[in-house]
Amino acid sequence: MTKKSSVCMGTLVTQRVYGVFAHRAIECCQRLFESLESEMSVFVPSSDIFMLNASAGKGPVKISPRSVEVLELAQRVSVLSSGAFDVTAGAFVNLWRTALAENRVPDASEIAVTSRLVDYRKLVLDSKHSTAHLKIPGQSVDLGGIAKGYAARLARETYQTYGVKSAVLDLGGAVLFVGRRARSSEWVAGIQHPAKERGACFACVSVVDKCVVTSGGYERYQLHDGIRYHHIIDPSTGYPSNSDLVSCSIVSHDPVWADALSTACFVLGSERAIHLVESIEDTHLILLTSNNEVYVSPSLRDSLRLLDADMRLI
Ligand code: FAD
Ligand code: MG
Repeated sequence: MTKKSSVCMGTLVTQRVYGVFAHRAIECCQRLFESLESEMSVFVPSSDIFMLNASAGKGPVKISPRSVEVLELAQRVSVLSSGAFDVTAGAFVNLWRTALAENRVPDASEIAVTSRLVDYRKLVLDSKHSTAHLKIPGQSVDLGGIAKGYAARLARETYQTYGVKSAVLDLGGAVLFVGRRARSSEWVAGIQHPAKERGACFACVSVVDKCVVTSGGYERYQLHDGIRYHHIIDPSTGYPSNSDLVSCSIVSHDPVWADALSTACFVLGSERAIHLVESIEDTHLILLTSNNEVYVSPSLRDSLRLLDADMRLI
């Protein structure tokens, strides 16, 4: 097994790869992650997404076919989740980032003004000409909830190219399990306990060739006046999502759907999340509510093990 860790896309990325060409596959994926970051980060002034945001309300910008593809996927999830995931949530993300950096929370008028900018229907994509356009000045796309899944999807293709049959790629909350573990056994994916130290899990699930992505408000947040403000915004309120969920994991073969749906379902809350996921093929969920109740898709029940005696499996 060859292992490599690096910091990319604002998170720790770890690859554990088996096979003769593991080293070459790892280096190729590392270059892939770096190129995706330079194309899709809102923090890189030359990126496609930065330029798209800077041109909001002005006109279409030419971007890479990959960026168009991710934006299309993000828009599809926005439609599917009725805007719980909104590809244009960037305006809220920026508002909260700026306000909290100034040690304050946004006031109601700022939220109201910003809410007019958050509308995925105002993103116009043209895959033929590889362009994108945000119709309203001040609109902002943020791919933080989906681009790591896209990176995992392309990484899986890279591993295949190098004949890798077994690998684990951890993109900070999004974990891709390629094939099976050695000796034909299944991988065991741990689900982070929201109230315990990093690496402590409240449940684990056995998987083969799946991606497991978890969204929650317990890791990336800022305190203000003793209140936690986390990074996933409910576009219907403009405030950090306040559903009944503490943690939301999606298990799917497709890392893109797993990533975007984990963010969407966290916002939707247990009832609407279960309803949404039931309608999508090869998508399964593990939800933890603030009442310590764990919901799991029937299809995962036999492969899930609850590790916390204080939690109840529903
Ligand atoms: P997820 O639940 O998967 O996504 C939450 C993120 O999605 C939020 O952080 C926000 O960006 C966005 N979001 C919030 N609400 C919504 C909503 N309702 N609908 C849609 N999207 C929403 N972070 C840094 O600190 N520094 C960096 O340099 C940096 N570079 C990055 C480059 C790239 C290409 C990407 C994809 C991310 C980068 N990040 C950076 C962001 C960081 O990695 C994010 O915190 C991370 O993507 C959030 O992932 P998550 O798994 O914690 O949460
Ligand atoms: Mg996500």
